Amino acid sequence: MKRTFSLVILFVAVLFTSAFAQNRVPSKGMAKSAPDGHFHSYEFTRHAVGDNDILIDILYAGICHSDIHMVNGDWAEASYPFVPGHEIAGRVTKVGKNVTKFKVGDYAGIGCIINSCGECSYCKKGLEQYCEKGMVGTYNTPDYFHNNEITQGGYANNYVVSEKFALKIPKTADMKRVAPLLCAGVTTYSPIHFSKVKKNDSVAVAGYGGLGHLAVQYLVKLGAKVTVFDITEDKRQDALKMGAVKYVNVRNENELNGLKDNFTFIISTIPAKYDPLMYVNMLKMGGEMAIVGMPALENTPTINTTMLAMSGHRKVYGSLIGGIKETQEMLDYSIKNNIYPLVEIIPATEIDNAYRNVIDGKVKFRYVIDMSTLK
Ligand code: NDP
Ligand code: ZN
Repeated sequence: MKRTFSLVILFVAVLFTSAFAQNRVPSKGMAKSAPDGHFHSYEFTRHAVGDNDILIDILYAGICHSDIHMVNGDWAEASYPFVPGHEIAGRVTKVGKNVTKFKVGDYAGIGCIINSCGECSYCKKGLEQYCEKGMVGTYNTPDYFHNNEITQGGYANNYVVSEKFALKIPKTADMKRVAPLLCAGVTTYSPIHFSKVKKNDSVAVAGYGGLGHLAVQYLVKLGAKVTVFDITEDKRQDALKMGAVKYVNVRNENELNGLKDNFTFIISTIPAKYDPLMYVNMLKMGGEMAIVGMPALENTPTINTTMLAMSGHRKVYGSLIGGIKETQEMLDYSIKNNIYPLVEIIPATEIDNAYRNVIDGKVKFRYVIDMSTLK
């Protein structure tokens, strides 16, 4: 009797597990299995498409410098196998029964956040990136809505996401170039608006890469006078062509002369060691410096607080991506104003090389992976 009962329980458990497994969504992507490993194909599953979820077939995924920091363990230990990618553009192939924002065939995007508690003061203000319980990141984060399974990112053929955290990409968008807006775009758009930059303001962008070249486009569009700082000669003409009034190669010390007390706003996207005070001193009194660049732990800059005090009422603040509402606003604004990243489209087999080139400063300006090339 006892034995029969156990068998019944086992049978029910197997049925339950296989039903659960059946509903999971098979996925394939490009993963790294160690910080110093190479990208390889990787098959895994995502949680089932719930009533409020959509399934997206990924067409393109951008390569953000944060992907490189994270998968290489620059900031913290990561879990492997690790599929990065939080600049995702694709097409909806399935919708849950409560979904109203999307229908099958629509374009949709995913940025860096796929969920948050929804109840804390920040979530209520649309600042899900600062959720008190912690946002669920698009990759390498325990998803507390799904048994804490570790999320896997967008260097993959598909993604399952709650409709609330998916962005609507208009039909008119250039799909090949739209994905990087989902992270690089909103990360720069957000502090520019937080600091209320306006026409004719004298402003600067430090670090003219994936994020920086979008910051320049937003600032030029606002009518601000933009100075660009980088460490190479290779991008001087690109910056001027994009509408910057000045380009400074910080490796040429003489180019730094005469810049003290100059800008009302500076955004730093620099992913390496540098001295933030150098830029603080270029602010006018009352000016604001937004820091979005997040170097590896061992390169994290420090600010000399005594010198900061002496620098007067010049403000420094940090900024992390943007909330979902603002991301949608940025996306609509960018597409309407034809603001897109300059991209190099690569096949999935080229991710290792692309990473090397981003680190060596050889990309203009964002790599985007064509997901149809996934084997
Ligand atoms: P990129 O590598 O595309 O761009 C970085 C740029 O900074 C490059 O042009 C690089 O020069 C330049 N640079 C490097 N060192 C210096 C220096 N000392 N002075 C001036 N310029 C310098 O990276 P991304 O734009 O993708 O990302 C930038 C940073 O922002 C990363 O740390 C990333 O993790 C972080 N990030 C933060 C987010 C947030 O929410 N706060 C969101 C997304 C990214 P070169 O051309 O020679 O390489
Ligand atoms: Zn990013």
